[in-house]
Amino acid sequence: MENKDIKKPEGFRVKNGRKSSQGEGNRRKPIEPVLPEAMEMIFFYSCPRCGRHVPRVNPTEATMAVCTGCGFSFPIVPVDEYTLQFVRIILSNGKAAVDSDFF
Ligand SMILES: [Zn+2]
Repeated sequence: MENKDIKKPEGFRVKNGRKSSQGEGNRRKPIEPVLPEAMEMIFFYSCPRCGRHVPRVNPTEATMAVCTGCGFSFPIVPVDEYTLQFVRIILSNGKAAVDSDFF
């Protein structure tokens, strides 16, 4: 997962050089882009057998992960819940990540 490009939400896309909401015959009111309401964090663990990155969402407990590539099951080191909470707070549950003037 090396995709570092930040893609704009669909609402910001421009079709054929025009804003898509200004199309002929389109009388529907454009929907305002929605801000993120919450955020979770995905951590990647390398499979000891095949090296594939195995994603886990908020892995705060020492559990087993199962590799989606080879099926190997391995224990993972959990992350600290307070650290996750800290990142959520400083990013205002994701809202700060969409607004460069937030800070
Ligand atoms: Zn594997």
